[in-house]
Amino acid sequence: MKIGCHVSIAGGIDNSVIRAEELGCNTMQIFSKNAATWQEKILDQEEVKRFKRNLKNSILDIDPVFIHTSYLINLASPLDELYFKSINSFIEEMKRANLLLAVPYLITHPGAHIDRGEEYGIQRIIRALNIILEKSADLNLKTMILLENTAGSGTHLGYTLGQLQRMMEGAKDRKRIGICFDTCHAFAAGYDLSNREGVEKTIGFNICQ
Ligand SMILES: [Zn+2]
Repeated sequence: MKIGCHVSIAGGIDNSVIRAEELGCNTMQIFSKNAATWQEKILDQEEVKRFKRNLKNSILDIDPVFIHTSYLINLASPLDELYFKSINSFIEEMKRANLLLAVPYLITHPGAHIDRGEEYGIQRIIRALNIILEKSADLNLKTMILLENTAGSGTHLGYTLGQLQRMMEGAKDRKRIGICFDTCHAFAAGYDLSNREGVEKTIGFNICQ
């Protein structure tokens, strides 16, 4: 069974592997840059080498690694400048994940519609995903995008599984889009995960089968 958590990259991305191992993880999530700034991180080759070496040498066989995108990215933004900045930043995240770090999964919050309503926001996200899928295919990036369910605070979308399903169905390359199910967010959004019946109702099948 794979158990891991989000670990810090402070002092170098390679340190994340050591931290995860100290915690007994055999999978982990990291940021590949400072998640609170737009500035893209230039990873130096030595740091990348150490990261890969640490993973290869990890006694707990840490695999897979997941990268969480920056918190500033908003693929539903009604402001064109922010919208396209988010798309470009997302592609930079994919490049770092795929070309440099060889990390297969990129987790993202779908986006917040601000003041335009949910339908507008969902359509905006679908358009962004399709631009990202097309551009990343041109660059031969293999990264799989995982849409994370949110708690639904403010105008954040993706707080129901139905919304995530619509986003996935709107994507032209469905094989490269999946879901990262955040149980804490789901519980906060009203999915009762406090008992077996609630969990089964949420995920749609009997967990003992
Ligand atoms: Zn998240």
